[in-house]
Amino acid sequence: MDIDQTKIPQATAKRLPLYYRYLKNLSASGKQRVSSAELSEAIKVDSATIRRDFSYFGALGKKGYGYNVHYLLSFFSKTLDQDETTKVALIGVGNLGTAFLHYNFIKNNNTKIELAFDADEEKVNQEIGGVPVYHINEFTKQIKEKDISVVILTVPVHVAQSIADQMNDTGIRGILNFTPARLTVPDHIRVHHIDLAVELQALVYFMKHYPV
Ligand code: ATP
Repeated sequence: MDIDQTKIPQATAKRLPLYYRYLKNLSASGKQRVSSAELSEAIKVDSATIRRDFSYFGALGKKGYGYNVHYLLSFFSKTLDQDETTKVALIGVGNLGTAFLHYNFIKNNNTKIELAFDADEEKVNQEIGGVPVYHINEFTKQIKEKDISVVILTVPVHVAQSIADQMNDTGIRGILNFTPARLTVPDHIRVHHIDLAVELQALVYFMKHYPV
């Protein structure tokens, strides 16, 4: 199963966790094979896309048999590094940040929020959802000590860039940015941007102009 990961298109790579989660459930329920049509129905990705994606993984479905669940699962778990836990920190323990601290990410994959930061004295030095909250002044020290590689950013938009600027030499390689700020970061840091307001607007636009 030696697959050159650089050949997997980014759009396909983004669907990997979705496939992984569903196949894990299938496997847990004792299912050994699955067709692209079944998968398509369950995860709402069209079956042609699924077949193309899976061909990048070296999984060739057989007509009348489908895909081998075990093969796919071991590929996904290897590719997604499921044997290793990625340590995550959250910055900004406001309404959204607090909700994330209570949300149990580890249920679905191996990411864990280890610690959180805030600038508000009233929010620091406590645990929320089992996660300790530190003052943002301790950011660099704690991130290095705890070997954090990913940050979830749920701060107000006007402080987002100055916080991102502090990440350069800390070992952080990824930011999940929930603020509307478009961040400028060095090449070794990857930013994924989730703007809930924009997503909602897009949905309403599509409902209006592309009715299903
Ligand atoms: P709340 O009502 O708790 O303030 P909110 O989500 O509406 O929630 P925001 O103004 O979006 O609040 O701020 C989110 C969080 O980011 C707050 O807890 C705030 O204290 C924190 N915060 C603001 N500035 C910074 C900063 N420079 N560093 C770290 N955290 C910050």
